[in-house]
This record gives sequence, C-alpha cells and structure tokens, in this order.
Amino acid sequence: MDRAVVTGAGGFIGHHLVSYLKRKGYWVRGVDCKGPEYGATDADEFLLLDLREADAARKAVAGMNEVYALAADMGGMGFISKYHARILTNNSLINIHTLSAAADARVGRYLYASSACVYPEYRQTEIEVTPLREEDAYPAQPQDAYGWEKLVTERLCTHYREEYGLATRIVRFHNIFGPLGTWEGGREKAPAALCRKIAVAKLSGNPEIEIWGDGEQTRSFCYIDDCVEGIFRLAHSDYCEPLNLGQDRLISINQLADLISRIAGYPITKKHVPGPQGVRGRNSDNSRLRRVLNWEPQISLEEGLARTYRWIEEQVRQTYGAQISQPAAK
Ligand code: NAD
Repeated sequence: MDRAVVTGAGGFIGHHLVSYLKRKGYWVRGVDCKGPEYGATDADEFLLLDLREADAARKAVAGMNEVYALAADMGGMGFISKYHARILTNNSLINIHTLSAAADARVGRYLYASSACVYPEYRQTEIEVTPLREEDAYPAQPQDAYGWEKLVTERLCTHYREEYGLATRIVRFHNIFGPLGTWEGGREKAPAALCRKIAVAKLSGNPEIEIWGDGEQTRSFCYIDDCVEGIFRLAHSDYCEPLNLGQDRLISINQLADLISRIAGYPITKKHVPGPQGVRGRNSDNSRLRRVLNWEPQISLEEGLARTYRWIEEQVRQTYGAQISQPAAK
C-alpha cells in the first residue's frame, strides 16, 4: 500500500487532502502542531509535531513514499501583512527541515505547497490584471515576507531535486476556499470572512457588513475539491517546475460579497473601511496547468460558495446563535 504523509493535516487543505488520499486507498499519516478543528481526521495516524524542529521533521517523513508539505504559519491578508518576521522564520524552519528529512529518508515524491503570493507586486497593480503565468514570478518582488519565503522554498525544492534526486513538485495555489477552513479569529481569508459577516448580518438582522478598502480589488477563487484533485495530479505527473493551481475567473471583493449575499438570500449594505487589501488585482493563467495536467478546476464559484456558505452559516449559528438571533427576532 502507498504510504503518504500530509503536513499541515490539522489545517484546511491538509484535512481535505488526507480524506482524498484515503479515498484513493493510501495509508495516510497526518502531521500538525494542532489537531483538526472542525471534524475528525481520516488519517490512519495523526502525529502532533512541531516541524520547526529537525527531529520532528524526521519523525514526520519516516517510512513514507510520498510527502505533501502543506504545513505553514499562515492566514489571510490581515495575518500575512502583519507578522513578517514570524512567518519568514517559522516557515523557513518548517520547510528546510521537512525537505532535508525527506531527502535523507529517500522518499519517492515530495509536493510543496507554494502560493500565488510569490508573484511580483509590479504585475498586480490594476483591477483588470493580466493573468499571471508561472514565468512572471521573476524578476522577483513579492509583496510580503510570506511570498518571499514561498519563492525561496520553491528554489530549495528545485535544488534538492538537482543535487539529491528528490522528486519535488511545486504547486502555486490561488485563493483556495471551502468548508472546514478557518472562518474567524484573524487568519481567515476573504471568502470565509465574507461568508461569516453575511451570516452574522442575516442572523442578527443588521444588513451592514464591513469590507476592507474600496472592495474593487480583484482575485480568482478555487474550490477545495478541485484543489486536492490538482495536487494529486501534479504530484503524480513528471512536471517539476512550479505550476499554478486556481480558477481563472476574475471577480472583485464587492462582487464576491454580492454573490454570497444572493446565496444567503439576505440583501446586505457594504461599509468600506480601512484595512489590508493586498495587491490590486490577481488572476491565474491556466494555460500551463491545462497543458501539463490535461485538466483544470471544474467547480463553479457559485457552487463552491453555496457549499461554503451553508457550512459557515451553521458554524456561526452554533457558535453565536443565542446572542445574534435575538435582534433578528425583533
Ligand atoms: P492552514 O493554516 O489551514 O493549515 C496550515 C497548517 O500548518 C495549520 O494547521 C498549522 O497548525 C500547521 N502548522 C503551522 N506551523 C506548524 C509547525 N511548526 N509544525 C507543524 N504544523 C504547523 O492553511 P491552508 O489554507 O490549509 O494552507 C495549506 C498550505 O497551502 C500552506 O502552506 C499555505 O501557505 C498554502 N497556500 C494556501 C492557500 C489558500 O488559499 N488556502 C493559498 C496559497 C498557498
């Protein structure tokens, strides 16, 4: 039986990836410094390890054929635009130790979770942005330390492949969303934050929601089921350069809020407030994804958001139901 370890298995994408690999018939080890928050893991074994420690990384990969390296100290714009030193330090340690342990253990395949945050700020200054091709990452100028660390680890993966024969694969995610992801507390990303705000508005009867900036900043968003499918396809391909994994439908944050409001069946009013917005526009060019994997994400934004909103509204109800249902009842 194939044996795989997913690091970051207590987090959003890792949790879904563990379930996906189990459905494929793998024996799966989950590793994280915390357990999954929103449901039991499907992993055969779950190790609580801090991958900033070299020993922990060795335990994580021991006996595995495949490593899916997803662990990272990360969050949405509010988080990654604030904690540069912490993010750069923690993620560098996690990635250096995990890569090095995997090379020593001679694992068969190593997939590294990089990010669209590696792309240079100067290519993302317009709302109607040109979709980003993989080669656009250079000359490098990521906006945050989070993106710089991802870019350096991409290089490290390439050098480990060249020097130590580790079969590394590098995926650049573009805004993955779905159920079982962080939806409050400061690390949540825009789709989850908007679903929560709209659920709170609906349940409290107060239609006003806050949007950071003018809300005209644009992104593309990819549903989690497509993400794990793309991860698996790339890990098992022979393609070893970085590859985008996302949708290529551009939408503004204001439009995203309107879409979720329609899904919720609750009209909102937007209050634009100062807040971190990231780059002005970002979209994925999926030409290479289609060519390399002969596949691209399938699930529409409407369908993905409907599934996500339902889950987040339920979380809000369970967590705050008693307090916020009162005003709505008046
Ligand atoms: P997440 O925060 O939900 O999961 C990351 C997990 O890593 C967390 O459970 C966290 O506890 C764990 N972790 C952090 N420090 C650790 C340590 N020292 N030792 C062990 N585990 C540790 O994030 P996610 O959305 O699931 O993202 C997974 C990966 O994909 C990350 O590498 C992230 O940078 C990358 N990524 C995600 C997105 C996205 O849209 N979600 C976009 C681009 C890149």
